[in-house]
Amino acid sequence: MSTPRVFILSGPSGVGKSSIIHRLLELRPDVVLSVSTTTRAPRAGEKEGRDYYFTGKAAFERRAEKSGFIEWARSYDHYYGTGAKEIQNILSSGRHALLDIDTQGALQIKNAYKGAVYVFITPPDLADLEERLRGRGSETEDSLRKRLERAEEEIGHSGRYGHIIVNRDIEESVQSFVQIIELEQELHLKFEKSEMFTDQTLQNTADKATHYALEHIDKEFLAQSLEKDLKDALRGELEDLIRERLERILHKDLGRIVEEAYRDMSGK
Ligand code: 5GP
Repeated sequence: MSTPRVFILSGPSGVGKSSIIHRLLELRPDVVLSVSTTTRAPRAGEKEGRDYYFTGKAAFERRAEKSGFIEWARSYDHYYGTGAKEIQNILSSGRHALLDIDTQGALQIKNAYKGAVYVFITPPDLADLEERLRGRGSETEDSLRKRLERAEEEIGHSGRYGHIIVNRDIEESVQSFVQIIELEQELHLKFEKSEMFTDQTLQNTADKATHYALEHIDKEFLAQSLEKDLKDALRGELEDLIRERLERILHKDLGRIVEEAYRDMSGK
């Protein structure tokens, strides 16, 4: 089974995020949307517990004070927050958690979930976004203007996201998202494998170094100190003979050569 990850999806209001998310959830039962809590009123067709948990301002502030949100932000005069438990429940069910949050919230999450995948959905241009927002028919002229200003600000943060999808067509964007999930999964597996590989390589290198030290360095060191001791003892008379013997120490049995050297020395 794949390792459950946190996918953070941001993009300006009206870009088509909700449509992309709903389609993605249909295609990928291994992805679950983390339902946020908001103080804004439900739009037509939105359901409590599916799109948001709708709450009052005072209740939201009380929960935020008690650190009941892993992140929260104020946007368009309303509060939006993500519950830490919400994400944990999804991950512990073995599925990926998808968070639809704005750029302010995404930056707060960065510290909580180091391995999170950041995806930004952007419109082909701002005129396209304005058209979509107008088409939604849920905004007043004032809130439309605010959303467009905010959209420019949000797009300005898109460089901090690992993946950017330009939403020209919902189906195409959903396919891009699916590819991102698969790519990230593959990268994650490769990373885990490369960590194992590095451990194994280190282990092999350490083994080789130890072997080399036992085979060469130790004997060489022994040979050098032995040469010094023998030189002192024989006052240089057998120096050439000993050197010749010592050269063989690296390849032959140390004990036997030392015996030979003493035998030569004592003339036996
Ligand atoms: P809308 O009112 O259109 O549903 O959402 C407005 C903005 O709030 C969107 O950009 C959406 O991504 C963001 N948003 C929704 N839930 C959360 C949340 O829990 N935290 C943060 N920071 N932003 C959220």
